[in-house]
Amino acid sequence: MLKLCLKTINSRSKYDGIVQKRCHLPHGHKGRCDEFPFLRHFYEMDKSVADKIKRDSTMTTGAAWKSEDAGPNRILRWVMLLSDEELKNFGLDMSKLKPGIIAKLREKAADYDSCIEVALKLTWLVYQMEDAPQPPRAIREYLEGFFGQMDFGSTVCEVCKLPISFKLFELAQRGKAEIETCHKNPRLHNAENVGFAHRECNIAQGAKTLDDFYEWIEGILERSGH
Ligand SMILES: [Zn+2]
Ligand SMILES: [Zn+2]
Repeated sequence: MLKLCLKTINSRSKYDGIVQKRCHLPHGHKGRCDEFPFLRHFYEMDKSVADKIKRDSTMTTGAAWKSEDAGPNRILRWVMLLSDEELKNFGLDMSKLKPGIIAKLREKAADYDSCIEVALKLTWLVYQMEDAPQPPRAIREYLEGFFGQMDFGSTVCEVCKLPISFKLFELAQRGKAEIETCHKNPRLHNAENVGFAHRECNIAQGAKTLDDFYEWIEGILERSGH
């Protein structure tokens, strides 16, 4: 695997004491350090795609939680690895939340490196969607160093296995999220376990693992005589 710079990047987040953000440019690179160098191309051409990859990799998913009782809307996944006691120092009182919400937040926890790996994997998959832009050579070679050669047009929905078009991201900009980040096992956030799914497929899968989901569907088809 590619050797990375990994120098600490200073930011002003109140959570900096928990995890130091690091540079993921190749070791010995020129110029400024960059936490997400593999997203640079998307930041230039389609910021919403880059923002989505970064958000889905590093933040817990935000349900439409509004009241304090319902918990924080989105929070860095590695913050959710802290104990209840430690979280109090950041103004998060878990004892005020309902058990269901706590469980949901806790199962979305992931360490910093896993989140970065997820971001890398999602970026690698986006470039392989139908109608996706061509990656600049440096980014392509960088991503292929982690996950192997790209096969353009090969990214399929993790659930229904139909191809996913990059154009669906454009619909999302108009307030309709048609592509969602999907977890083969909803309680694991790492590169191997993530991919993209159609929104309706992701909703159908729900809290089941993909294996359990297919078994469930199989049973339904059998019982209904299909
Ligand atoms: Zn660097
Ligand atoms: Zn699908």
